[in-house]
Amino acid sequence: MTMTRIVSLILTLVFLAAAPLRAGEDGDRQPVTILISIDGFRADYLDRGLTPNLSRLAAEGAHGKLRPSFPTKTFPNHYAIVTGKRPDTNGIVGNRMIDPRRPDQIFSLGDAKQSLDRFWWDEAEPAWVTAEKAGVRSATMFWPGSEVDIHGARPPDWLRFDQHVSGAQRVNTVLDWMRRPAAIRPAFVTLYFDIVDTAGHRFGPDSAEVNAAIAEVDSRLGELVAGLDALGQPVRLLVVADHGMRAVDAARVIQLADLIDLPSIIAVETGPYAAIEPAAATDDRVFAALLKPHDHMDCRRREDLPARLHYGRNPRVAAIICIAEPGWSIIAGEPEWPIAGGAHGYDNQDPDMLALFVAANTGLKGDIGIVDNIEVYPLLMTLIGVAPLPSDATGALAKRIAH
Ligand code: AMP
Ligand code: ZN
Ligand code: ZN
Repeated sequence: MTMTRIVSLILTLVFLAAAPLRAGEDGDRQPVTILISIDGFRADYLDRGLTPNLSRLAAEGAHGKLRPSFPTKTFPNHYAIVTGKRPDTNGIVGNRMIDPRRPDQIFSLGDAKQSLDRFWWDEAEPAWVTAEKAGVRSATMFWPGSEVDIHGARPPDWLRFDQHVSGAQRVNTVLDWMRRPAAIRPAFVTLYFDIVDTAGHRFGPDSAEVNAAIAEVDSRLGELVAGLDALGQPVRLLVVADHGMRAVDAARVIQLADLIDLPSIIAVETGPYAAIEPAAATDDRVFAALLKPHDHMDCRRREDLPARLHYGRNPRVAAIICIAEPGWSIIAGEPEWPIAGGAHGYDNQDPDMLALFVAANTGLKGDIGIVDNIEVYPLLMTLIGVAPLPSDATGALAKRIAH
């Protein structure tokens, strides 16, 4: 045997030995990172004995409680989780918001014309955009912001939000993505479920309907894990929620009309917190009426909010922010629907606003305690192997990955 043939034989053996580690071959799958949000899944729902799949993932991996960012609403918190920036810096300061540069327009999650306009989202860059720039392919099975060309880009695979797409269809879509050839298979996936939040609003956090929704989403997670297993697809799972849920009722209501004539204010948002703009910026009567002490509600100028809320510097935050005592609701005139069931949006110190966190196969182990939800971002970026952008997070959670 010549020297050349010996060298070639050694190289072939080395190549074959290394083959199972190479990316992109069938039967040789690189791990996918899946970020799952169960909207409104309060942290303690995990203790209800209704979630065999989630509880197993938590027991084998890690679990904890995410402290949402204020305001404890869906859009600000979903964006905080994928940017590492709190609402004040990520630009999504509410489910409904205004901007002095766009007078007379209100961003609202139900208004596609505004909510799909990148103007509102461009103050931060979500994980899937940064991943794409780094050559890591993403796919989003719903996530607030994923339908918008933020910084000029959407995920290569994304879907327009539609509540009628069933949980099973969402899971099957993710599994289909993972059946693709390696070159077009995503390495980072988001998956979003809304039924726990919807049931929480309609029936309250302690209802049979919420329990049924919790159990149903857990079954879908079981199908996801089994489906990935059948494909031989390794997965790193982060299961989070955006906020919790608290019971509300018509007996605990603060009526703004009792304090000020309603035409004098623009109530950008009402409910557990209210974002209020005087209709005429110089109308001191509005400030005088609202900034005095009230029962069951604390109103401040946006620049005077407690520092721990990290809220009020963004020009999109309304001039006056009122935060109701947990369980109370602020209304302006007749509410759109009866005050009953559950709500969220309270101070993020309210224990009922704490949200789910479960991580499986990520290197995190055990009970991680209470963690600010912006800390999920550096962890997520570490898992997908992309350098995180500067954010409000400390990186403390990512550092806990056991090496
Ligand atoms: P909320 O409870 O008002 O903070 O918001 C929760 C609701 O947001 C869910 O029930 C969904 O209907 C809605 N939602 C979630 N994701 C999206 C999205 N990407 N686009 C529009 N609406 C969404
Ligand atoms: Zn939500
Ligand atoms: Zn909700």
